[in-house]
Amino acid sequence: MRTAIKLAILLFAALSVPAQINSQSPTDSSGGAVTVIKAGTLIDGAGNTPRSNQIIVVRGNKIVSVGDAASSSIPQGARVIDLSHATVLPGLIESHTHIFLQGEEPADGGYDVQLLKYPISYRAARATVSARRALEQGFTTIRDLETEGAGYGDIGIKEAVEQGFIPGPRMFVSTRAISSTAGYPLEGYAPEITVPKGAQLIDGPVEARKAARQQLDNGADWIKVYMTHRSWVDDKGNLISQPTLTVEELRAIVDETHGWHKKVACHAYNGIGLQRALDGGCDSIEHGLELTDANVAQMVRQGTWYCPTLMVYTFNPAPAGTPDGIRDQKRQDVHGPSFQKAMKAGVKIIFGTDVGGFPWTYPIAREFSMMTELGMSPMEAIHSATSRPAEMLEMQGKIGVVAPGAFADIIALSDNPLQNIKILEHVGFVMKDGSVFKDTLSAH
Ligand SMILES: [Zn+2]
Repeated sequence: MRTAIKLAILLFAALSVPAQINSQSPTDSSGGAVTVIKAGTLIDGAGNTPRSNQIIVVRGNKIVSVGDAASSSIPQGARVIDLSHATVLPGLIESHTHIFLQGEEPADGGYDVQLLKYPISYRAARATVSARRALEQGFTTIRDLETEGAGYGDIGIKEAVEQGFIPGPRMFVSTRAISSTAGYPLEGYAPEITVPKGAQLIDGPVEARKAARQQLDNGADWIKVYMTHRSWVDDKGNLISQPTLTVEELRAIVDETHGWHKKVACHAYNGIGLQRALDGGCDSIEHGLELTDANVAQMVRQGTWYCPTLMVYTFNPAPAGTPDGIRDQKRQDVHGPSFQKAMKAGVKIIFGTDVGGFPWTYPIAREFSMMTELGMSPMEAIHSATSRPAEMLEMQGKIGVVAPGAFADIIALSDNPLQNIKILEHVGFVMKDGSVFKDTLSAH
């Protein structure tokens, strides 16, 4: 049985890779293959109103026009993809992933075995599967927020995707991440033993700046910093998070990174570390479990992006009543109200899940439902995974939108997500860069 499943997976891989590379269609006078998509409903990723019966013309890897079917002509010889019964959207953007993590299932040895047991080639092989999983779920762009001990492995995966060797999304990568001494696993081993760490640990502004330089030199698109580490609940029931970098250390990183015209993503739960993250000039706050009114006001003032990653905190909570169980419950209890506070104040919220922190087999798009259950409108939730992160990634008009001039990253659903947000968990059509990667939806 297992062999049969493996064979099926291999066969599927063998069939769909050429599909991505060989989706040939007639070419126009400029040499680009022309594909026309008939969209029954179009949610373009930027506007607030869906449009019905649209014709999207794709040439090569770009969208050249979008218009009403009634007034648009289909170029002669164009390949036509009929999604006139479907809802079409831009390819989605996942702003917090870990392709080098596989769920940290406690029964499988949790986080530590990833670094202690597996050769880097094994982790890289699995990362290619993660990248593919993102794409087949309709996420045509990811911001991958560190490799968790796999060094600069994300750079290689990104290159392999860009060169067409493996299917995957557009990738913005952050390589090794930065924390301080005592600020990241592996830990809990005998002090006499040297164990690997899941991030590059620094102390002092000089080392901080040097780490940023090394990571940027090796191709990091973003710098990821851990501003809090351990967390627990104190006697009064407050969530406490251990701060890591000082403001001076963070400022050195931010100054260096901004000099390269790149940005800094800060993991920060709450308290002192979160305050330092904001004072040090982080561009995005990751998780932000507990935001005070003052934190929220500062985020609005500074234009800080907020990537809440709601879903990951519902996975594998420690047993209720144990110290870790109480902490895990507290994290969830404060997270929703923080999200709502940020949303009401107009903080720029972006979609991200921390997938890899939970298994890649799980539907990433479940996060959309969690956002709407907390009061975000379905259209706002969609924008948090389309035009809004495109702005954060400085790709406005190029990704996260179905409009002339954008890359042809297009997905389709069998139902309208404005009425049925869960349908985003069942993406039936995926085009990336003008090539169809998946199609279980178009009419033939
Ligand atoms: Zn993460």
